[in-house]
Amino acid sequence: MSDDDLTPELERLRSLEKTLQLALDIVSDGIWDWDRLTGRVRRSARWYLMLGYEPFSLPETVDTWLGLIHPDDHPATMAAMQRYLDGEAPLFSARYRFKKADGDYIWLQDKARFVEYDEHGEPVRMLGAHQDIHLQVQAEEEQRREQAHLEQLNRELERKVQERTRALADANAALARQLTLSREQARTDYLTGLFNRRHFDQMLTEECRHQQRDAALVLLDLDYFKDINDRHGHQTGDLVLQAIPALLRPHLRQADLLARWGGEEFILWLPDTGGPDAVRLSERLRHTLAETRFCHDIHLTASFGVAVCRPGDAIQQVLRRADACLYQAKRERNKVVGEE
Ligand code: GH3
Ligand code: MG
Ligand code: MG
Repeated sequence: MSDDDLTPELERLRSLEKTLQLALDIVSDGIWDWDRLTGRVRRSARWYLMLGYEPFSLPETVDTWLGLIHPDDHPATMAAMQRYLDGEAPLFSARYRFKKADGDYIWLQDKARFVEYDEHGEPVRMLGAHQDIHLQVQAEEEQRREQAHLEQLNRELERKVQERTRALADANAALARQLTLSREQARTDYLTGLFNRRHFDQMLTEECRHQQRDAALVLLDLDYFKDINDRHGHQTGDLVLQAIPALLRPHLRQADLLARWGGEEFILWLPDTGGPDAVRLSERLRHTLAETRFCHDIHLTASFGVAVCRPGDAIQQVLRRADACLYQAKRERNKVVGEE
């Protein structure tokens, strides 16, 4: 074939090579070509430019590649290569940091595969393409940092919400306790711990509404209590008053109501109790009080007025009747007076 015949063919091949080069430039930032038999690795001019080196200025060896991979990325890159060599991966593909001429590292994507084999089927040539993915990796890292930051903020927010919820629950519980205490205090006489007059009144109204059988109302007034105060002091008088509930309680049933009616006056509501039983109970209470020795060897007595409340009776009238009985008892003192 003459030179004239060759020229168009050469032209066509050159044009084809140029097209190929342009196409490679579009899809990659650097091409490498490893001849396994000679160990030579040819790299494209763009490959050098991508890294800031003078084109073709580095030794065309595998060691050049190995020397530029970031030490931290070395093991994973070698493992990826081994997977390809072992036939476990369809191509060699790895992401790693690669050292530029100025000493900085950029992230590269490296993909390669064998393109030629000898007559024994042994691979003899590997062709690879590098891609600069530095900006992409940086964006991914930034995204990861932002994600981590958001997750951290979210955790802090959740913690704060939990804290607030707990604080709110605590405040609610404290409020509920305070409310219970306030209710308790509102119905309790602070000195004796018994129901106070207001609460007893409310309970009495309730009791009367549901009352189906006779009940008894007993008014109890300590005799000459003023003398005890005068002789032993008000504080001792208080101690005596505080001791009264424990003396009366053992004689009462679960359903009986006991309250402090006023200064040294107590009141009893005895459901399902007729006049005679109420008088008998009052006598027992009178005896108990009369036989008790309080602090400072104080002894005292009490007078009792007992009235019967029949279903339908107005409670105020029953109270008046009990008061009238008490008034009578006070004529003698240390006495129980029931209705005729
Ligand atoms: P009577 O036999 O007529 O009932 O005589 P009395 O002294 O008990 O009755 P009076 O109504 O004259 O006096 C009641 C006394 O009870 C006067 C008051 O100082 C005393 N008293 C009332 N409340 C309390 C209290 O909470 N503590 C003390 N220590 N004394 C009280
Ligand atoms: Mg009195
Ligand atoms: Mg009295």
